[in-house]
Amino acid sequence: MHRMSWIPHPKHCRLHSVWHAARVINFDANATAPLCSAAREAWLEAVDRFPGNPSSQHRLGTRAEAALEQARMEWAEMLGCDPGLLIWTSGATESANLLFYHLAQNAPANAELWLSPLEHPCVIAAGSRSFSSRVKFVRASPQGRIELDSFRRMIETTAPKPSALACMAANNETGVLQPWTELAEICREHKVYFVCDATQWIGRHPAAGLGSCDFVLGSAHKMGGPKGAGFLKIASTSPWMPLVVGGPQESGRRAGTENVAALLAMTATLRERELRFQRGDQLSLVQAREAFEHALPKAVPGTRIVGSDSPRLWNTAMALMPPLPDCQQRWVVRLDRLGFAVSTGSACASGKEKPSHVLEAMGLSADTAAQALRFSVTWESDPHHWSQLLRALDTLWTTAIQEVHSPQP
Ligand code: PLP
Repeated sequence: MHRMSWIPHPKHCRLHSVWHAARVINFDANATAPLCSAAREAWLEAVDRFPGNPSSQHRLGTRAEAALEQARMEWAEMLGCDPGLLIWTSGATESANLLFYHLAQNAPANAELWLSPLEHPCVIAAGSRSFSSRVKFVRASPQGRIELDSFRRMIETTAPKPSALACMAANNETGVLQPWTELAEICREHKVYFVCDATQWIGRHPAAGLGSCDFVLGSAHKMGGPKGAGFLKIASTSPWMPLVVGGPQESGRRAGTENVAALLAMTATLRERELRFQRGDQLSLVQAREAFEHALPKAVPGTRIVGSDSPRLWNTAMALMPPLPDCQQRWVVRLDRLGFAVSTGSACASGKEKPSHVLEAMGLSADTAAQALRFSVTWESDPHHWSQLLRALDTLWTTAIQEVHSPQP
């Protein structure tokens, strides 16, 4: 049977929106990436082969448990850590909540939590709930990276030391890569835990080395795995304070039946993404993005790329668009009408009035931050999508200028 034969032609179709959605070019992979074929195949195979509950003692249960343990070993090998330090979760938000609850319960009552101001809201909110007024922010540069010298001075001159520093590996809005290996090293010297949110890094850049961070969080759906699957790598096997209670799963660290099929699909996704990176599949997408960034200010004068002097994820470009007579939302809506899904920033913050806290931490005013548009592609994207997007932006800008110079009566 032909793969797409289930989608009827729109003329005969009540599912017209399904047909239409299939034609949208996805530039919003940092919000979520479509399920990739490796994930779909692994998921379908897992639901057939492993129908049992991994906690059950019969063969269906022990087979499911063995498959999860095999996946845990594979992840441990790719991250470079002991498999006993990995907890399966439903995603990075859950991982952050489990982690900061545990840390706060174990830290001295006056211990601080230090955060990069560029963190995803799930890290800032979960950390702030558990550490309340004992949260402090470290400094970010105008190029969107944590300033290593400033952090080193801060930690050297602070006593008692904080319980932990949290800094992501790659930023979801700007794509800027953070100096997480250096930060982990400085934290180790000062016996401070280092927490790394690797949600946007995993599956795009090699996972190797992340296992040396004390705590790592990640999620399947940003790299093309299913939604509702993630992990938390912890520092040691010493007693854990579980936030989610009510069952012995995950060595008593996170109660609740594991989502076996989604976790196996997440593992297959990571395996496939690591191979793609080794093969260099990202290189043609990088070239296309560079050409786009070079040509954009010519097509839309006054445009600026955020964090352009910093190392960035190969799939992401954030542009500050020149002020239009319309509000920022219009770019997103108009691009959508032309068949491009883009975003104004983090998925959680988009659609709200508040300016991006990431851009504010980089020193941008609220007005400038409101001009940001984020474009992020998937592994499956065609490099030509970048030139198609450029043409669409060019068209929209030219039309907007014409509207200003010859307003409708
Ligand atoms: N961390 C980062 C950097 C993210 O980009 C996101 C999602 O946007 C999350 C955490 C939350 O991930 P999840 O959707 O798996 O809870």
